Amino acid sequence: MHPTPKEPSVAPVRLKKDPGALTQSEPAEGVHLSEVHRDITLKGKFYSSLAFKVLLGYIVLWGLGCILLSDSFLGMLGMDPAAIEQFKPFRRWIFLLFTAPLLYWLVFRQATSLQHKNDLLGAAEKKVMRLNRMHKVLSEINHVILRARDRKHLLHEICNIVQERGHFSFVWIGLGETEAVLPQVIVTSGEGSQYLQELFDGLQIASSEERGEPALASFRKKYHVVINDIKTYSKKQFAWQRRALDNSYQSVAAFPIKTSSGMSGVFAIYASETQVFSQEEVDLLRELAADVSYGLSDIEQKEQLYYAANYDVITNLPNRQLLEDRLNQTIARAYHDKRCVGLAFIELIELDSMINAYGQAAGDKILQETAKHLSRLVRDGDTIARLGNNQLGVMLADVADVYDIPVVIQKIMRSFLVHLTNHKDVTIKMLAGVSIYPKDAENGVMLIKNAELALRGISPDEKIDCAFFSKEIESGTKYAQSIEEELEGALERQEFTLYYQPIVDSDTRKVVGVEALMRWRNPKLGEVSPAQFISIAEDKNWITGLGEWTLKTACMQLKEWKSNGMDLTVSVNMSSKHIMQPQFLEKLKILFTAMKFNPEEYSLAFEISETALIDEPKHVIELFIALREMGIKIYVDDFGTGYASLSYLHGLPVDILKIDSMFVRTLEKDPTVKTMIKGILAFASGLGVKTIAEGVETEKQLKILRHLGCTLVQGYVFSAPMLSKSVSTLFHRQL
Ligand code: C2E
Ligand code: CA
Ligand code: CA
Repeated sequence: MHPTPKEPSVAPVRLKKDPGALTQSEPAEGVHLSEVHRDITLKGKFYSSLAFKVLLGYIVLWGLGCILLSDSFLGMLGMDPAAIEQFKPFRRWIFLLFTAPLLYWLVFRQATSLQHKNDLLGAAEKKVMRLNRMHKVLSEINHVILRARDRKHLLHEICNIVQERGHFSFVWIGLGETEAVLPQVIVTSGEGSQYLQELFDGLQIASSEERGEPALASFRKKYHVVINDIKTYSKKQFAWQRRALDNSYQSVAAFPIKTSSGMSGVFAIYASETQVFSQEEVDLLRELAADVSYGLSDIEQKEQLYYAANYDVITNLPNRQLLEDRLNQTIARAYHDKRCVGLAFIELIELDSMINAYGQAAGDKILQETAKHLSRLVRDGDTIARLGNNQLGVMLADVADVYDIPVVIQKIMRSFLVHLTNHKDVTIKMLAGVSIYPKDAENGVMLIKNAELALRGISPDEKIDCAFFSKEIESGTKYAQSIEEELEGALERQEFTLYYQPIVDSDTRKVVGVEALMRWRNPKLGEVSPAQFISIAEDKNWITGLGEWTLKTACMQLKEWKSNGMDLTVSVNMSSKHIMQPQFLEKLKILFTAMKFNPEEYSLAFEISETALIDEPKHVIELFIALREMGIKIYVDDFGTGYASLSYLHGLPVDILKIDSMFVRTLEKDPTVKTMIKGILAFASGLGVKTIAEGVETEKQLKILRHLGCTLVQGYVFSAPMLSKSVSTLFHRQL
């Protein structure tokens, strides 16, 4: 017989207002097993013993038999003495016939009643143990709530405790906006991720049936749902029911959660036995759900207070106090790792007059835009903060060399001019003062103070927009300016050379390809690294000229090598600024025709940095397809450093992923890096493309990489970049 599905009972959630209700000292109240024991055993302590009852019954029957069959009793019944005399031999048999069945009945009855009592005791014992366990769970959870500092951590702990201590198969908690149909944040414990995944997949297929799943129903309708036997719940056998049974869930209970800020949630529990959720247990779990609601509300309140004390409401940026904290923490780490920390104190000098002209709202908008733009320019561990009305702070954390700081600051200031002047109606001038740990200060307060001092030192008649607390560093900035001056016309003056760095197959130890790398030698500046001049060339739009020169030189070299019987791939770095130009493909074809270079006959590759792939994905895919049709291979350079999503990279037509040297560098120190490389290799093999590890310097790194399955490598372990004629010598050798 299958009961029809019942509309579950409506039970609004109780949100505890009084934090005192969760004090640690509150003992776990529980039902004591001994009480039940006493109830059943004391009541018929002695009388209930089987032997005594049977003995008593037998004595009574025996006495009764003796009386009923005695001569005097039979005489009283009017039997004549002769008949009594005749009856005497049968009396024993009648006595036996009369007492035996009665004795049997007596023993049987007592035995079954004892059995029944034993069963009752067993069931009570089990229930009491469960309830006691749940009381312990409740008290443990209250402890967790008192200690909890963040939401995700709290939910994880709760799920783990309820699932493990409560001996349940699977527990999950979901949270979402009140009006949401499905929870967005999900935390689980136990065996059930597959069940959840299939449930959510089922919803995608738009089956309204799935919405009846107890946990989802509880989330949406905000009442608790208890099903003590999933199998018999509905004859219809809903999809979720079948899946639950496949996962060996026999019963389920779900309780709604609600926080003070209006977030909704559900707390769902699945058990592998039927009839797990007795009324008492449900009451306890409801209390538990209410405690979770309370815990979440408490965290929300703490977060709001923390936010108000540490953030600026207009820009959502950290305020001065939080910046100081972060600076101090970052400095402590930098001291340990021997790194530098930079702080730029930035002032938007015309902001006040703009507010006077256009109003406060316009001023706020400029600040917000500026903050957003700055956040995009810096790295993840860096901090942008609001320091005053028209003042912002930029902390550059974890910098390897003091002289890297002026380069980054210059980049920020330059991009800023371009960015803000793009908004035709707004031109805003920015000044920056910069101080650096450990040169200029030892703590956050002093670093901010000295950066501001450097800013105040800029006099109005000076042309500079950025000053350093330490004048020694400032000359580094002047160096960047002179690179810019010298770079103009360097191509015409033939100051560039192309070097080639071998890419080696570590199985055969033979050179299979080379990467073309630019070298610039300037009479005034000496040898300048491409890491310094390429970004300036990109900003100044000189990169196309440099790119065309590199490509032409590399192709000529490729032709020469091929005619000498050297079969190798030459890969050329191509800037995204260059390849994204509207006429790029046409110009490329013209260049090849002019050089009489047919890319199909040679092995030519373009190295394009992963970070360059993020903008305009549609255009990038089309471009790659066209390039590959021409016979050019595509290498994704610096793979793992960009933020391109894996699903997007999945659709990209490429030939090789170049694993960035950053991974290789930290391979021996940091064990998580190995896992990351494994992930990259698995991803590449899924795409059916090869990988090259860059910047391999030691035999140990090479060994680990080979062990992981990455055989193509490039780096000082085999060879530094070299002139073309040295490549010819190496090509015929085994390295
Ligand atoms: P990249 O494409 O990642 O090039 C690899 C860089 O790592 C090269 O620096 C190379 O000399 C260096 N390197 C190679 N093996 C090792 C090693 O074992 N250890 C270490 N520490 N470094 C190693 P380089 O030549 O200074 O180039 C720097 C960046 O400048 C290149 O990074 C590339 O993004 C850019 N670049 C170089 N030449 C060109 C070019 O012709 N066009 C464009 N657009 N960019 C170029
Ligand atoms: Ca490269
Ligand atoms: Ca690279």
